[in-house]
Amino acid sequence: MTQTTVVQCRECGTKNRIANLASGRPRCSTCHSDLPWLVNIAGDEFAAVLSSSKLPVLVDLWAPWCGPCRSIAPLLEALAVDYAGKIRVVKVNVDEAPEVSANCGVQGIPTMMIYSGGVEVSRQVGALPGNALRAWVDSALTSA
Ligand SMILES: [Zn+2]
Repeated sequence: MTQTTVVQCRECGTKNRIANLASGRPRCSTCHSDLPWLVNIAGDEFAAVLSSSKLPVLVDLWAPWCGPCRSIAPLLEALAVDYAGKIRVVKVNVDEAPEVSANCGVQGIPTMMIYSGGVEVSRQVGALPGNALRAWVDSALTSA
């Protein structure tokens, strides 16, 4: 079953329904602005999202009981807005998808990984303050 996420356009307020597995650069159906693209995906969508995405993907592996994970959640939401059209942010709850952390060799959370063309280009273990998070993303996108 195809999961979707409703994303509200920041320019005109239109609510757009986007498939989690959409491969391109999601734009508003009304005003065609780039939409911030942050979705929670299930473990069985993970491989398909990485291999189909034309945008670089920032993967956040998190769990509800993890304090540092909760502290970076608003930073990632702000990043998805500011980097609309440049990156997609994908959150995976490792309690619900332990196979994803096992397959990626992840030992602790939060772990963030940036994939470009389905290949991991950078990994950050542990939370970062907002400015350091952006610096890490910028450097990963430059090398991607
Ligand atoms: Zn719009």
